[in-house]
Amino acid sequence: MTITPLMPVYPRCGVRPVRGEGCHLIGERGERYLDFASGIAVNILGHGHPALVKAIADQAATLMHVSNLYGSPQGEAFAQKLVDKTFADTVFFTNSGAEAVECALKAARRYHYVNGAPERVKIISFTNAFHGRTLGTISATNQPKMRDGFEPLLSGFEVVPFNDLEAAKAAVDDTTAGFLVETVQGEGGMTPATPEFLKGLRQICDEQGLLLILDEVQCGYCRTGTFFAHEQYGIAPDLMAVAKGIGGGFPLGACLATEEAARGMVAGTHGSTYGGNPLAMAAGEAVFEIVANDEFLANVRKMGDRLRQSLEQLIPNHDHLFDSVRGVGLMLGIKLKDTAEARGFVAHLRDNHGLLTVAAGENVVRILPPLVIEESHIAECIEKLSAAARDYEAAA
Ligand code: PLP
Repeated sequence: MTITPLMPVYPRCGVRPVRGEGCHLIGERGERYLDFASGIAVNILGHGHPALVKAIADQAATLMHVSNLYGSPQGEAFAQKLVDKTFADTVFFTNSGAEAVECALKAARRYHYVNGAPERVKIISFTNAFHGRTLGTISATNQPKMRDGFEPLLSGFEVVPFNDLEAAKAAVDDTTAGFLVETVQGEGGMTPATPEFLKGLRQICDEQGLLLILDEVQCGYCRTGTFFAHEQYGIAPDLMAVAKGIGGGFPLGACLATEEAARGMVAGTHGSTYGGNPLAMAAGEAVFEIVANDEFLANVRKMGDRLRQSLEQLIPNHDHLFDSVRGVGLMLGIKLKDTAEARGFVAHLRDNHGLLTVAAGENVVRILPPLVIEESHIAECIEKLSAAARDYEAAA
């Protein structure tokens, strides 16, 4: 037998973390890494945050899991907090981002179904999107590397160019249910939706009775300096997928919905064995209590500005390698020049300089630090990036 016990769907690198301390990870051989990947935008409180650790430990000792067939005081309390803080009137808890998107897709179809328009099934999504790896969520992307070999995918999806409002408008027909869009594309290359685009989609939805589904799995939960990224556009969705940061490392996601958009989601239409169990709710509430306030968000914006300025200052010193900085808040990316390759530079940063980042589409190195970083972490990151750029150039 040659297959590994872990199904080999990830090209795993040589970093084998065994412990986390704040913004650092420690590998099997005791080596330290500055973690500016955060489990791909997940560990917003860093590693081993005492309040999160305690909340999980206390809840595990009290009550870990019960079925969703029973009342959920923990779920009600956390859902109420999310409702009070967002556009939403109701929440379905999931265990991951893809499940949160799936719930939103199902809610959108059910909405039209109960409104007497069962033909409205088509979801319009956008190029370079990433919404997860389930059959439904890969149906909403145009990326062959995710789709190949998994056909037939779900029908009722159409992918049009991102940030192209005219194309989005032109794709709407009598079978359209709504749009699914990342407010800031993550995997696709750290590209924000333009204000005209997002506001335009909202307007089309309002005029034609369609639903706007935002995927804020990566860009939501304080990452861009507001609780959710769409707040910076002055619009609100009808449905929104959330995950990653919401659990701070505990597997948790949520589909947030207005009362209207959730009209079809009545008893028996959807479910999850684990979704929103007491342990997940304890983790979610602990994270929420720390991050969902103006002071925390102001600090994310401040650190985001500092990091961005420092990155921008780096560019002219290494302009054979670095092209530009993009992104919002602490969801940043460095676009590399065409002569370099993001995956290779990410590996060099990791293996030779102990800095963890993530590659994204469009030749971008994603910088997704914990949201609790301090000036010292920014200085450490810049030092490592600069040293790495120097010897990468030298090696090239
Ligand atoms: N949506 C977006 C925007 C994402 O970035 C991701 C994961 O990277 C997902 C959905 C899928 O989330 P998960 O991997 O938790 O299913």
